[in-house]
Parts: sequence; structure tokens; C-alpha cells
Amino acid sequence: MELIILGSAAATPIKERNLSSIALRYRNQIFLFDCGEDFQRKFAEAGLKFNKPMKIFISHFHGDHIIGLPGFLFRLSLNDRTAPMMIFGPRNLFLYLFLHKKILGLKAKYHIKIIEIDHQSQELIEYEGLDSETPKKTIQMNNNIVLDTKYFSIKYALVEHSVITFAYAFIEKSRYGKFNPDRARELCIPEGHLWKKLQEGQIIDFNGTTIDPVKEGIVGAKQPGRKITYSGDLKPSDSLINLGINSDILIHEATFAKALAEIAEEKKHSTSVDAATDAKKMNAKQLILTHISARYQENALMLLEEAKEIFPNTIIAKDLLRITLK
Ligand SMILES: [Zn+2]
Ligand SMILES: [Zn+2]
Repeated sequence: MELIILGSAAATPIKERNLSSIALRYRNQIFLFDCGEDFQRKFAEAGLKFNKPMKIFISHFHGDHIIGLPGFLFRLSLNDRTAPMMIFGPRNLFLYLFLHKKILGLKAKYHIKIIEIDHQSQELIEYEGLDSETPKKTIQMNNNIVLDTKYFSIKYALVEHSVITFAYAFIEKSRYGKFNPDRARELCIPEGHLWKKLQEGQIIDFNGTTIDPVKEGIVGAKQPGRKITYSGDLKPSDSLINLGINSDILIHEATFAKALAEIAEEKKHSTSVDAATDAKKMNAKQLILTHISARYQENALMLLEEAKEIFPNTIIAKDLLRITLK
């Protein structure tokens, strides 16, 4: 599991910082959180592959978080992409892409689903392909989960910003430790469906004996899954704390230094101190400050110092920074 910062600037890109975008590599697929303008260049520079299954999560419709998405999809339409794609975001996400199809001829020959999150009705509105303006289906959401799979789920939270904005958490499910095939053989358990059950930690009945794979040392004990939370743009919001509780990594916007707290409040953004306070409140293990204003081009480390006073395990994002999660 690897996190890669593809863009760490707020509003205006600078030489060292592209607009907001974060990639997560996990189990042979790529997750993207926001698609700032021209993030495709950093995507390529990071060595990420364009034909991987992808899941994209858009936090809100401010240009610095979404303008890179059509460009990226145009690029994919030039490649012979075959891998599936899912894109999640607020209502009107389909319309946004549909207009690019209508006016600029955007195409997607691969399987693409666009899923709008309606926080009011607690529904997911799912479109398939770019052709039909009628949603394929509507799904009632449970507990703010927008995607649930065997290995992980993705949850969203509505946070406070000047437009409808979602924070997202990637929550890996707890899993059993390493499978020990020699131990299974020792107990004379034949390979096949029983092994599969044991690998999943299931207690089995074998020749009249109950076998607990953890107690028997066939699989390692259950390990908690990893959790990564991305704030999007926001002013301090309780909903983010609830979403991100006990995160391994919190990626939090820190548009302003603490001296500009009043402007942050007015513009519904966060300061370095807000980000650190949120990390502390949610009992996160590590904080990454991002969405750094161009005004701190020369002294972004000041934001880091301010945050560290409250939450010591903080780093500041820079483009192409890579973090491996064990
Ligand atoms: Zn922004
Ligand atoms: Zn914004």
C-alpha cells in the first residue's frame, strides 16, 4: 500500500506544487482523491500505470480539485484502456463529464461508472458509460459507505466548506495473518476448499475434529486494517473527526498559517493548527499537511512547525512524496 502526493497546492499552482491530487496504490488498483489541473503529468512522473483499475473520489466542485479529471479521461481515451473505472463525487458529476462528451467529444471505451453521492437522500446515483443521461440505478447508502468490497470500504462525510464538500476515508478490513501451508499439511488437511476456509480464518470441522486455524498456527492472528482519511477542503468539522477516528494517516488541508485564522474561517478553510488539532482529536497516527497556499512558497515549513507543536508526527506534503504503509 503506497500513498503518492500528485499535487499539494491550494488554488494556484506554483513551480514546486501542482493542484490537489493524491494517489493510493493498493492491491493492483489505483485510488485517486481529487484531480487538480494537469495532475496527469504527475501521475505519469510517479510511474503510475494508466491501464489499471481505478477508483476516483472527488471532494467538491472547486476548479482546483476537478479540472484535471476531463484531461485525464481524454488521455485515457487515446490509450487503449481496458481496465474499469469508477468515479465518485457530489451531484452533477455526471453532467460535468457528459458536457465534455457533448461539446468536446470525450469518449470512454472502457467500462466506466459515475456515482453521485446525494448526502440529502443518502443515495448513490449510478450512471454507466457517458452516453445515457438516465441513471442505471439508485442505491440506498448505509452508514455513509459509498463502496464496500471484500478487502476495504470507502466512507464519506459531508464537511463544512463554501460548496458541498466530502471528505473520504479508505478503511481496510481486518485480515488474518500469513497462511502456513506446512502446518495445514501436518494436520493432514487436504488442499482445496478447506484450505480456502482456513486462509479466511474460518473454523472448520475436519474428520469430526474442530480446527481453529489461528489456535493451530495455520494462519496468523487477525490484524487490524489500515485507514487513510482525506479531508478535502474544509473548516474544522466534527463530521471529519467521526469519519477519520483512529486513522493511520490523515491527509488534511492546511491552506493558511495560524496568523491568518480569521481569513481561514471566513473562506471556510483550515489552518495548520486546525489540521493538527483534528489529527489529535481523531487519534490519528500521522498527519500530512497539504493544499498549501502559494503565499507560503518560501516558508511552507512554518506551517509544519506550527502543526508539530500540537501534533508532533506531522509532515508537509510535497509533490511526488511517497509513503509506504506497512
Ligand atoms: Zn481547494
Ligand atoms: Zn474548495
